[in-house]
Amino acid sequence: MIVELISVGTEILLGNIVNTNAAYLAERLAGLGMSVYFQETVGDNPKRLEETLRRAKDRSDVVILTGGLGPTQDDLTKETAAKVCGKRMHEDQKAKEYLIAYFEKLGRGWEEISENNWKQTMVPDDSIILYNDNGTAPGIIIQADDNKKIILLPGPPNELIPMYEKDVEPYLCSLEQGVLYSKVVKVDTLGESSVEMQILDLIDQQSNPTIAPYAKPGEVHLRVTAKAKDEKEGKALVMPMVEELKKRFGSYVFTIEEDVTMEEALVSLMQRYHLTFATAESCTGGLLAGRLVNVAGVSDCFKEGFITYANEAKIKHLGVSEQTLQKYGAVSEQCAREMSEGLAKNTGAEVTIATTGLAGPGGETAEKKTGLVYISCTINGKTTVQKFQLKGNRSRVRNSTVVRAITMMRQCILREYAEI
Ligand code: ATP
Ligand code: MG
Repeated sequence: MIVELISVGTEILLGNIVNTNAAYLAERLAGLGMSVYFQETVGDNPKRLEETLRRAKDRSDVVILTGGLGPTQDDLTKETAAKVCGKRMHEDQKAKEYLIAYFEKLGRGWEEISENNWKQTMVPDDSIILYNDNGTAPGIIIQADDNKKIILLPGPPNELIPMYEKDVEPYLCSLEQGVLYSKVVKVDTLGESSVEMQILDLIDQQSNPTIAPYAKPGEVHLRVTAKAKDEKEGKALVMPMVEELKKRFGSYVFTIEEDVTMEEALVSLMQRYHLTFATAESCTGGLLAGRLVNVAGVSDCFKEGFITYANEAKIKHLGVSEQTLQKYGAVSEQCAREMSEGLAKNTGAEVTIATTGLAGPGGETAEKKTGLVYISCTINGKTTVQKFQLKGNRSRVRNSTVVRAITMMRQCILREYAEI
């Protein structure tokens, strides 16, 4: 099935907002094994939108439009789509009820609903309405007479994403014969130049199941999808490939569960081995602890965390030696090692992790460039320090450091306890 995406909004054309909806939808669609050959962005201009939509509808089976469903004058997506499909509009009773309920939820009476809001309850004939729990504009699936489907979704991501996941994805799957069965293998990328390079042979041969890789910061998700007559057959097609990927990537696979993040995988590993941990952060300044504390149940294992930013703090709280700081500097292998070892001594945690790096801008020397980061992990008296030269601006360097620290903790625990 060929799916095409049209993002509507002059704000996107002007670069005022980043088109995250298109990225999100493209990724989800690839995960379903659907082909996206074209994506367009068009401003809030009915003539150009009509032209774009006609072209898309000609060459694709499904066209998904996002944005321009709001109540204002420049929101013209629905009217244009109805015109292109030759559909008249009628009022949808349930959309009216949703609109009233939404205003009540905001503590506003229905008499405050404006003429323009009521316009949002008008829908094209022969369409499926996707009621919106998070906003006023319902999503709409127009079933055109030539069997093409035009799907209209609201622009705000907090409305679009739940609607897509709850209604649109099941609908798209129902259009295919049989079922789509998929599993995701999440691989962390520490020490891996390219996950994709290692599975080129599998990607080259793929037909059913398909493998779609998505890169995220510090991790790659490999989605294995099969088309099958039922779930049992789908599973039988998908699981051997999942096993092959697990074999190839070994301990770098941190989960094959859809909704498990890398920090959750780390925390459950620590829970399994009854380990406690502590953090000492310089360049990440609490980001690492913050990310780990996102995990419910982390209180089983998190003892304490320090932000030791200044040299004096590294000396005072972690026992880093002044000589080390003078001789090698705070951004050094030696300092990182003393940070995690001192932390272990002071806290008694089985696993301690320390970050120190140059997030920039400024502060560079001939030997130490922005993005130079050392991460040190001590477990039961054994310390592993890794050096990284990370790319990007300050925020990217700090976030990449967090991801690498999480990965390193997992790898070090596995080496120590799982004997890999
Ligand atoms: P509204 O009811 O808020 O007017 P709408 O469906 O008409 O919703 P737009 O007016 O096009 O959508 O966009 C509303 C907001 O949604 C934008 O200001 C922007 O914050 C967000 N948005 C729209 N399109 C995108 C997109 N492609 N990617 C990310 N965010 C978007
Ligand atoms: Mg709008």
